[in-house]
Amino acid sequence: MRTMIIAGNWKMYKDVAETRDLITALKAAVPSVPAGVESIICPPFTSLALAGELLKGSAFQLGGQNMSQHDEGAYTGEVSGKMLKAVGCDAVILGHSERRQYYGETNELVNLKARKALALGLRPIICVGETLEEREKDITAQVITTQVKGVLSGLTPQDMAKVVIAYEPVWAIGTGKVASPAQAQEVHQLIRKQVAGQYDWALAEKLTIQYGGSVKPDNAAEILAQNDVDGALVGGACLKADSFAAIIKAARP
Ligand code: PEP
Repeated sequence: MRTMIIAGNWKMYKDVAETRDLITALKAAVPSVPAGVESIICPPFTSLALAGELLKGSAFQLGGQNMSQHDEGAYTGEVSGKMLKAVGCDAVILGHSERRQYYGETNELVNLKARKALALGLRPIICVGETLEEREKDITAQVITTQVKGVLSGLTPQDMAKVVIAYEPVWAIGTGKVASPAQAQEVHQLIRKQVAGQYDWALAEKLTIQYGGSVKPDNAAEILAQNDVDGALVGGACLKADSFAAIIKAARP
């Protein structure tokens, strides 16, 4: 049975005071997660240390939203994986479409970051997804296959035991448009098949593949019920404790 993972990407929302309020509310709303389900919250860098303290002993794990591919050095504005670990992070989101779109991140760079995260014992949540233009040109499968190949390049089967892939169609992120359950299932199945080709079916069957793109309490159960959908990466709906809690409750392993 695959682990279902519900992760919340806070993006550039919530200062330190707001972080305290949201985490306090989340802990009250979600005292425990169902067996076989994990939940990770990913606040901005400035809130991670506080979040790490507040989440100790809670049902939630902690993740960063990005990290450097370097260990340390003169890289102004960057944060290393070691720094994420030091404030209690278990995971890190890599290659989010906003990083790809606004900061020029490529599959090659995401791959370097994933290797670094794994070397440090952080679980990489690696995002892939097609744009609206690519879907309309009917090249979704080609785009996803290229991304999956690129971001996983050189990762060992042992590495893959920690990797999570998040399928996030770019046209569904923050737009209120959600992929239909059938559209999500189709791409998730494709990703699993691609991973089976690169490794083997036993490994691919164990891989957690999250869906992301306008997941809300009212559509979560239907998407999460798809055979190859093993969780959600949630943006907007994770900023309120009650809606994130409702999505976690909709998850069943
Ligand atoms: C995201 O940022 O990863 C995301 C899926 O956002 P939203 O849920 O707001 O579409």
